[in-house]
Amino acid sequence: MAENFVGSRKKITPHLTQNEGLSFEKSAPGRKAYRLAPLDVPEVDPRSLLGESCRSQSAELPQLSEIEIVRHFTRLSTWNYAIDLGMYPLGSCTMKYNPRVNELVSRLEGIADAHPYQLEALAQGSLEIMRLLQECLLEITGMEAITLQPAAGAHGEFTGILLARAFHQAKGNARKTVIVPDSAHGTNPATAAMCGYEVVNFKSNPQGGIDVEALAKAVTEETAALMLTNPSTIGVFEKEIHRIADILHAKGALLYMDGANMNALCGKTRPGDFGVDVMHLNLHKTFSTPHGGGGPGSGPVACRRILEPFLPAPVVERGSDGQLRLNYDRPQSVGRVRAFYGNFGMFVRALAYILANGPDGLRQTTEDAVLNANYIRAKLEDVYDLPYTTPSMHEVVFSDRRQTRNGVKTGDIAKRLIDYGFHPYTVSFPLIVPGALMIEPTESESREELDLFVDAMREIAREVEENPQVVLDAPHSTRVSRLDETTAARKPVLRWKKP
Ligand SMILES: *Cc1c(COP(=O)(O)O)cnc(C)c1O
Repeated sequence: MAENFVGSRKKITPHLTQNEGLSFEKSAPGRKAYRLAPLDVPEVDPRSLLGESCRSQSAELPQLSEIEIVRHFTRLSTWNYAIDLGMYPLGSCTMKYNPRVNELVSRLEGIADAHPYQLEALAQGSLEIMRLLQECLLEITGMEAITLQPAAGAHGEFTGILLARAFHQAKGNARKTVIVPDSAHGTNPATAAMCGYEVVNFKSNPQGGIDVEALAKAVTEETAALMLTNPSTIGVFEKEIHRIADILHAKGALLYMDGANMNALCGKTRPGDFGVDVMHLNLHKTFSTPHGGGGPGSGPVACRRILEPFLPAPVVERGSDGQLRLNYDRPQSVGRVRAFYGNFGMFVRALAYILANGPDGLRQTTEDAVLNANYIRAKLEDVYDLPYTTPSMHEVVFSDRRQTRNGVKTGDIAKRLIDYGFHPYTVSFPLIVPGALMIEPTESESREELDLFVDAMREIAREVEENPQVVLDAPHSTRVSRLDETTAARKPVLRWKKP
């Protein structure tokens, strides 16, 4: 059964096709992919034009025919995995489908050719895209002011905590600490530290939420903010969020929400309505702009009115003449956090996505994302350990507790999943779950794709019982199998060199 399953999946995932016998080095002297028209002017010695800077030997470029080049790059692209090939259940990353209409809109001539130095009078369309996106995001979050400048989620956190710092500073005391729960994304404590705060690590309760009594004791006059991910990294909605906000506000502290998980909330509830003061969004997660491989991202920061004076400059404003303009005259601003106005192409894609879905569509998206995660949870909880039984939102976190009895860890299961034609889930995160398997299917997946994934995960669980070695040696279907992951990250070899 396992063989058949892998076999049928292989057919639709060409990245699994083996091309044994095809060497990487394809160059052969004299092959060309171009033909120039015959020279119809006198030949010139390039040295007479370029002098010393002219190379004395011709460059050692590969010599290939056109079809060989096309096939080479097309083949390489199939050795990778992509959301366009299949489910990409990387928890916390919201790897959803990037609708083609977003790409179409972002390539419209007037949009694709816009230049950041264009005069405001000639850039009214681009400014309107930014203004309208801001309005939509404010409506979705229930917040009162926003900047689109930050280039990623972590960058948004940094900007948001800078706002909090400027806010406290303006009242005469920047305060000393930021409280970060132990379930937080690693970027949260890093952000607080980068903004000059001491990080107070806060232990989650057995349900994976905030212990309100303990929080009331932890918050002091020196607390600048609490950074809370909601739903948390174990996919649980923080039920006490109103009380948490009240506890902070009573001491003059702010509630920062890491909004990377908005895919579980859009159209259902709004952070502005449950007491959040400042938050970031990941357009490249929730709002379907392509991500992975290092960017581009976009991490707008939305806040309450009290933080507006500190927003990065410039901000988009409509003048009394009805024209949109960029206002740089912001004396209390934390300054710029990025060149120009942010990743404009991402704004276009996110706005296209929001407008194409509309409010009902966004709500449906949220419901489907939550339904899909709970479907997977229900189909796998008898074979994988579920450490938190609190209802799941958009993602479900299992642990490898049962599989470790046979010496198999979450990383091994993830690598075996590659053989079954899926991208691995998020491995060993969040840290509060030892040996975590963090699975986020998103709303993009059909019932059939979810079933294939469930079958694969169940097959792997069976293999762990019957033949753990096949899992420990996985992946078997890729060009390279187990790499030294530390060296691969610290000393990556990014260029092919002729042996
Ligand atoms: C992805 C993520 C971030 C960081 O976002 P980047 O765009 O990768 O910088 C922060 N917090 C949480 C919970 C996330 O999932």
